[in-house]
Amino acid sequence: MELLKGKVAVVTGGSRGIGFAIVKKFLENGARVILCGSRQETAERAVEKLKEENSEYPVTGIWPDLSNSSEIEESFKRVKEEFGTIDILVNNAGISARDSIFNYKPEEFQKIMDLNVNSAFYCTKAVVEYMKEQEGGVILNTSSMVSIYGQPSGCGYPTSKFAINGMTKSLARELGKYHIRVNAVAPGVTNTDMVSSLPKEVIQPIIATIPLGRVGEPEDVANAFLYLASDMASYVTGVILSVDGAARS
Ligand code: NAD
Repeated sequence: MELLKGKVAVVTGGSRGIGFAIVKKFLENGARVILCGSRQETAERAVEKLKEENSEYPVTGIWPDLSNSSEIEESFKRVKEEFGTIDILVNNAGISARDSIFNYKPEEFQKIMDLNVNSAFYCTKAVVEYMKEQEGGVILNTSSMVSIYGQPSGCGYPTSKFAINGMTKSLARELGKYHIRVNAVAPGVTNTDMVSSLPKEVIQPIIATIPLGRVGEPEDVANAFLYLASDMASYVTGVILSVDGAARS
């Protein structure tokens, strides 16, 4: 069943990890997808990889600077002109750092906020007028398990994800009257570069506490995005959907 048949979706951070799995899942379900990468090279490589799997996939890459609201606006305007609409936006690009507060650099904190929070705001702003005009749309944010429990070091990252939950819940209430649904998925520990770059002594104790006994796969998370993007979730908005194997770290 193609749950997203004919829909146009933009996915930030779509070149690898969770974002790449979301792009693939959406394509398998009939969407046309524009994936945003941080650089032309990585965006094009991701598109190539998907086309190798299925040359018919309607997927394109773009690489706006996500710290620049006018560049995002211009870039999404071109998408709208070319594809006629933007039905779904996934704000997924994100970075993390685990420094202790004692040596946390203000620039590092700012960098996390800029990408994890501000870029989601800029991208959302760049699509809401289109969605309002077309009387509907879906905005999805990638939050995190740490947005609920915090984490014992690296306070910038959970802070950014608490902010994303706030944006999700507030915009769900503000935009409901335009039939724009706004939800977030809060993954637990998921098997991507973000996690494989963590030292073993950090990751192993975390896995040991996960009731389902394993880390999540990007596809586990992408399945939740598919549900929330589709009409199956037509009465669901303002939700932070945990996909974490009941992890509580
Ligand atoms: P990843 O490092 O594999 O991918 C991050 C994505 O963000 C990449 O596509 C990258 O191109 C993009 N990105 C990074 N810096 C960028 C920049 N400056 N400009 C534009 N794009 C940039 O990580 P991932 O694990 O797939 O993370 C994706 C999202 O999932 C993030 O928001 C992350 O916070 C969240 N998340 C991940 C986990 C996990 O365990 N992996 C858990 C909870 C939440």
